Amino acid sequence: MSIFDLEIIKAELEGKENAKKLLLKAEEKKIINLNIWVDNKTLVVADAYVVYHNTARGPAKGGIRIDKNVTLEETTDLAERMTLKTALAGIPFGGGKTGICLDSLKLDSYMKKELMKELVHIIRGDLASGYYIPAPDMGTGPKEMAAIYGELHISECVTGKPIGIGGLPGRKEATGRGVAFSAAYGATKLLKRNIKGLKVAIQGFGNVGSWTAFFLEKMGAKVVAVSDVNGGLYNAKGLDIIKLMEYTGKNRFVKGFPGDFVSNEELLGVEADILIPAACENVLTEKTAPKVKARLVVEGANGPTTREGDEILNRKGIEVVPDFLANAGGVIASYMEWRSAKSGALTSSEEVFEFIDQTIEKSFAKLLKLAKDRKLTNKEAGLVLAVTEVTTAMENRGWI
Ligand code: NAD
Repeated sequence: MSIFDLEIIKAELEGKENAKKLLLKAEEKKIINLNIWVDNKTLVVADAYVVYHNTARGPAKGGIRIDKNVTLEETTDLAERMTLKTALAGIPFGGGKTGICLDSLKLDSYMKKELMKELVHIIRGDLASGYYIPAPDMGTGPKEMAAIYGELHISECVTGKPIGIGGLPGRKEATGRGVAFSAAYGATKLLKRNIKGLKVAIQGFGNVGSWTAFFLEKMGAKVVAVSDVNGGLYNAKGLDIIKLMEYTGKNRFVKGFPGDFVSNEELLGVEADILIPAACENVLTEKTAPKVKARLVVEGANGPTTREGDEILNRKGIEVVPDFLANAGGVIASYMEWRSAKSGALTSSEEVFEFIDQTIEKSFAKLLKLAKDRKLTNKEAGLVLAVTEVTTAMENRGWI
């Protein structure tokens, strides 16, 4: 179901039927087969989807996901969230996404490179013209973006590249930085507490989860639980995140690091002030949301809360920082990388982090004001702000 089908958006767009029509449908959905030879005898054929949801405000921006659960529906939902995220952050992009349905744990970097080259062969026109600007998501990273750059040789056509070839210092940490900032700002404004000493549980210890934990620990928060696809660890006194990052760097998973075992479901209900789902979609549901003890949920992952989960969290008075605000750090940094590629300007990681903090703070403050003025939830207020931006752009373009 499209996120643009939510009652709050329908009400906001009352009388703007054409805006509703356009937002409910992605501009383009491509269903493709990515064929790669993994050795002399084996041909792998992967189902892949490229979705451009809305480009009224600028090129379709959105990561490339490789995961065994990828579907066209999920890719479309993620593209829609990118339209919201770029609009709320006020950066000149629209929303897009690519999903490749393969188990990324079973792919080596050679296979991923071949997949990227094949993808470029199929959507070269969209990439070279700047209509779609990809970036990393689950299962992809700087190496894969380097492969795309290698096929095109146009720096601004892809973001999340390695630093040596036009990547941005601070890009790999950027999403986690923004999630950590959102948690700290949310704690101050919504819980009236300083982040220092607050207990945080984080589901997912990949790019987003690990860097979120890193920055929160630096801010003085106590990260009491983390997990990955195989389950998690809990330590009421706080886990040593730097050591855990070194450990997972060598051993890939958190299993084996000192701490009590918790399942991914148990992690959502541990004693903590802040819960950060930073792994995958639909984990806070009608079954799991009632168990949440945290007073603030910061959505690090895209779409971690179902509609039923949202209602339960609201009823319980748990504050939620929506994904399209909390995890915007990556796309904000991508904007800086794209801008630097166009202008040739160099940027430091300090400047990147400062820009992420400032941009999220500005949007967060606007969202809180609107939520208060109109008695909306944080998510509803964010949706209203983002949809207003996109609708104005569609009017400016003469689309509606
Ligand atoms: P990643 O592949 O680096 O890490 C994902 C983590 O989640 C890993 O620890 C993995 O083991 C764990 N995981 C996977 N399936 C799980 C499951 N079913 N239950 C529990 N844990 C599971 O991915 P990432 O880049 O960190 O992305 C995580 C989320 O954040 C995704 O929803 C992604 O769309 C979103 N996101 C990522 C970025 C980015 O810049 N990487 C930006 C915005 C949003």
